[in-house]
Amino acid sequence: MATEKTFSIIKPNAVKDNNIGNILAIFEKNGLRIAAARFTTLSKEKAEGFYIEHKDRPFFGELVEFMTSAPVLLLCLEGESAVTKNREIMGATNPADAAEGTIRKLYAASVGENAVHGSDSAASAERELSYFFEKNEISDRF
Ligand code: ATP
Ligand code: MG
Repeated sequence: MATEKTFSIIKPNAVKDNNIGNILAIFEKNGLRIAAARFTTLSKEKAEGFYIEHKDRPFFGELVEFMTSAPVLLLCLEGESAVTKNREIMGATNPADAAEGTIRKLYAASVGENAVHGSDSAASAERELSYFFEKNEISDRF
């Protein structure tokens, strides 16, 4: 299996709840390396562009409002099968359905405030990483 990169966001509720370190530790314990990180507050335009595939869903306004409500930590994670592995570690979108020990089971408040984002495919990872990071902001392995 190949080493690959994926994109993650530690969302506003997890930042406000002081769980950044706990979540980073889960990534690292599971063999995902932090290859880039930037702490920022998303603008409405940036959040809308990021979730553009959901623009016609009833929860879109709420989602954008939540994602811009406090700072987030943008991450590039690298490791073996990083896209799939990260989705497993995150757990289901709705924390009520998330498996024990997953990030969303541990730290999500609700389906809306669900602690983390993770790319759902290699193609999404590429689009999302280039939407937020310049190439020279992502470190090579050392
Ligand atoms: P993300 O893209 O944030 O990693 P996901 O891939 O698990 O989450 P998506 O279907 O892409 O889930 O939905 C994007 C986000 O929209 C979810 O993380 C969640 O916060 C919000 N969302 C999805 N479904 C609902 C819903 N039924 N009600 C409210 N918010 C929702
Ligand atoms: Mg998604």
